[in-house]
Amino acid sequence: MEKTGKSLSELKRSIYLWVVPFILFALTLNTILQNLFVEDKFDAIVNSTLFIWFLFSWVLLYKNRFVRFSEYSNLILISFFHVSTVFDVIYNDMVKSGGGDLGDFIIWTPLYLTFIFFTLGPKRGIYFSSFIFACTFINGILFIGQLPSKSVDSLSQFYFANLVYIIVLYFTQYLFRAFTEVELVKKHAYLDSLTGIANRHQIDAWLEIKLRESKQTDKSFSIIFFDIDYFKCINDRYGHKIGDSVLIELAGIIKDNLAPGDLFGRWGGEEFIVITDTISHEAIGLAEYYRKIIAAHDFVGSGRITCSFGVTGYHQGDSMDTILNRVDKGLYRSKEKGRNLVSII
Ligand code: GH3
Ligand code: MG
Ligand code: MG
Repeated sequence: MEKTGKSLSELKRSIYLWVVPFILFALTLNTILQNLFVEDKFDAIVNSTLFIWFLFSWVLLYKNRFVRFSEYSNLILISFFHVSTVFDVIYNDMVKSGGGDLGDFIIWTPLYLTFIFFTLGPKRGIYFSSFIFACTFINGILFIGQLPSKSVDSLSQFYFANLVYIIVLYFTQYLFRAFTEVELVKKHAYLDSLTGIANRHQIDAWLEIKLRESKQTDKSFSIIFFDIDYFKCINDRYGHKIGDSVLIELAGIIKDNLAPGDLFGRWGGEEFIVITDTISHEAIGLAEYYRKIIAAHDFVGSGRITCSFGVTGYHQGDSMDTILNRVDKGLYRSKEKGRNLVSII
C-alpha cells in the first residue's frame, strides 16, 4: 500500500513538473501582452507574484524538497488571487467601468479547480472548492444591484459553470480512486504476498492460455515443477522466518535467471512452476540449470538447500489436470530417486 502511495505522489510530482513551466510561459506571455496593450496594475502584480512563486516552487519540486509545502502554498496563493481577481473584475471592471464580462482569467478556472481536487482529494477538495465558490459568489451578491445586465448574465454563467466543474471533479476523483483500487486489488489477486512473484491464480490463468494456444496452433510449451527438499527440516531447525526468507531468496534467484518470455510463479508452500515455450527436452536443460544454481547458492541463515524437479511437455489433447498430474509425477520420481534431481515424464 505504501508503495502505491509513493508512486501516486511521484506521479503527481511529475505532472506538476510538466505543467508548471507551461503556466510560467502563459504568465510571461500574459505580462508581455498586458504591458503592450493595457495598463492594469492589479494584473501586473498578480502575474509577477504568481510567476516568482511558481518558479520557486518548481525548483523545490524539481529538487524533491518540501513537496507538500509547495503544493499547499501554491493552492493558498492561487486561491487568494482567484478570489481577489473575481473581486477586482466585479468591482473595477463591471461596477465602476460598466464592462460586461469576466475577462480571460476564467479560462484558468477549470485548471484551478482541478488543482484543488488534485491536491486535497475528493472530500477536502469539495469543502475547499465550495468555500472558494462561496467567496466569489458573495462578491457578486454584494454588488448585484449595481451590475449591468450583461455582467449579471456573464457572472451567472460563471457561477453555474463553477458548480458543474466542482461536481464533475468530485465524482471524477472518486471514479479515479475506485479505478486505481480495483486495479490494485486485481494486481494483488495474482501476486504471491510473500515472494512477490505470480501466485497460483496467475499460473492457472497462464496455463489456460498456453493450453488454448497449443490446441489452436502448432506451438508447444513445457512445465518445470519443483519443490524444496526437506523444507520442513529448514523450518524446524532455523525457524519459520528463515524458512520464509529462503522462499523469497529462491524466488529471486529463479526470477533473475528466467529465459525471456518464460513465466514463473509459486504454486503453493515450497513448490514453484516455470512455464517455458520450449519442447520438453530443452526444458530438461533449463531445469538442470536451475537445479545447479539453487544447489550452489548460499541461502541467508540456512546455507545450502536443494530442490527436486519434474518436467513435462504439452501433449495433444492435454487439459490442465492431465499436464499437471504428469509433471507432479515427474517431481515425485525425483523425490523417490533421492532428491536434487530432474525427471521428465
Ligand atoms: P520433501 O523433500 O519431501 O519435499 O520434504 P519437505 O519437508 O520439503 O516437505 P513437506 O511437505 O513435509 O513440508 C513442506 C513444509 O513447507 C511444511 C510447511 O510448514 C512448509 N511451508 C509451506 N509454506 C510455507 C511458508 O510460506 N513459509 C514457511 N516458512 N514454511 C512453509
Ligand atoms: Mg519439499
Ligand atoms: Mg511440497
